[in-house]
Amino acid sequence: MSSPAPPALSVQSGYLDHAASTPMRPEAVAAMVELMAAPAANPTGAHKLARDARKVLDRARQDIAASFDADPGNVIFTGGGTEADNLAIFGVVGARGGVPLCSAIEHHAVLHPVEHLGGRVVGVDARGVIDLDALADQLDESVSIVSVMLANNESGVVQPLADVASVVREQCTAVLHTDAVQAVSWLDLATHTAAMDLVSISAHKFGGPQGMGALIVRSETDLVPVILGGGQERERRSGTQNVAGAASMAAALVATDAERPAMVARVEALRNRLVGELKSELDGVHESGVGPDGDRSHKVAGSAHLCFEGVDSEALLFLLERGGLFASAASSCASGAQEPSHVLAAMGVPRDLAVGSLRLSLGATTTESDIDLALEVIPAAVRQLRGAS
Ligand code: PLP
Repeated sequence: MSSPAPPALSVQSGYLDHAASTPMRPEAVAAMVELMAAPAANPTGAHKLARDARKVLDRARQDIAASFDADPGNVIFTGGGTEADNLAIFGVVGARGGVPLCSAIEHHAVLHPVEHLGGRVVGVDARGVIDLDALADQLDESVSIVSVMLANNESGVVQPLADVASVVREQCTAVLHTDAVQAVSWLDLATHTAAMDLVSISAHKFGGPQGMGALIVRSETDLVPVILGGGQERERRSGTQNVAGAASMAAALVATDAERPAMVARVEALRNRLVGELKSELDGVHESGVGPDGDRSHKVAGSAHLCFEGVDSEALLFLLERGGLFASAASSCASGAQEPSHVLAAMGVPRDLAVGSLRLSLGATTTESDIDLALEVIPAAVRQLRGAS
């Protein structure tokens, strides 16, 4: 018996979960469709069709490298952000030995490899910014890689990577890695990753396809591969490359780079309206990642993260979905779990508040009417839950 057909997917109104996955940009869809309809050829082959596929791949490498001021030969295509992060941590420790170090708010794609290798974890302050003094205390020559994300997937807080690099360079020769997965839509990449040796990206966070990412090697770094086989990607990541996926990711990045300033300004205004009105409409709303003065300038434009007193996230998400609003409690990977997120715990958010967290993440397709809907549905749901408790 055949399984039931999956639901038809379309860009949804009320979608405020862009940090989990954002819809593909038209340029990325066009690139993918064109290549999927073209004759299939393996880019490592020797004949003309293989050479043509390789040219497409090389063009994608050039476009991606240009965003990071990197050498195109040092763009390593991966099957997403998780794999890029794993390659950075395991790859450097495999090549150089020693221990890895990361911040306590990293995505599990960094945190779990670091913990697996017996590495060190550095805390953050209440705003979710890495503690540079604690970082300095934990550094010595045995640390082979330091990984600090550019923008956090829950709080949206941007980390001071130039300062991190200065602290590290003063004390040891560790490789510097950043997980820039959540930053690509919002920040100029060449500027913000200038001090880094390795940068991870994931296409589905900026309008490219899911299951496609890259590790960009900005300065020559020895890496032991995590995936062994045919020796593709200059022996650093085996497996036939996803030519259509790479071209589609590059098209999404080129479009993102071109539209970023206007998109950031537009989305930031929407986000500020959303958070401002929720905070004036409801009592007991705590915004994460802001200073005591409520300044949001160090958060990426699409990020709104709130904790509601006296509310349970799971029940809230249920009511929001019933009202046509799609959001999440913590990061996409942690949502559904009962435990409050490790990010909020590291920021010192008390457990009873952290269980009422809501991540509203905006993106390139977010409109004023998505915000209108959120402002109608969220206060009603919060009041209903508070009334019920
Ligand atoms: N790093 C961060 C900061 C993320 O937010 C995510 C996804 O949520 C990942 C890594 C993992 O990327 P991918 O979903 O492409 O494996």
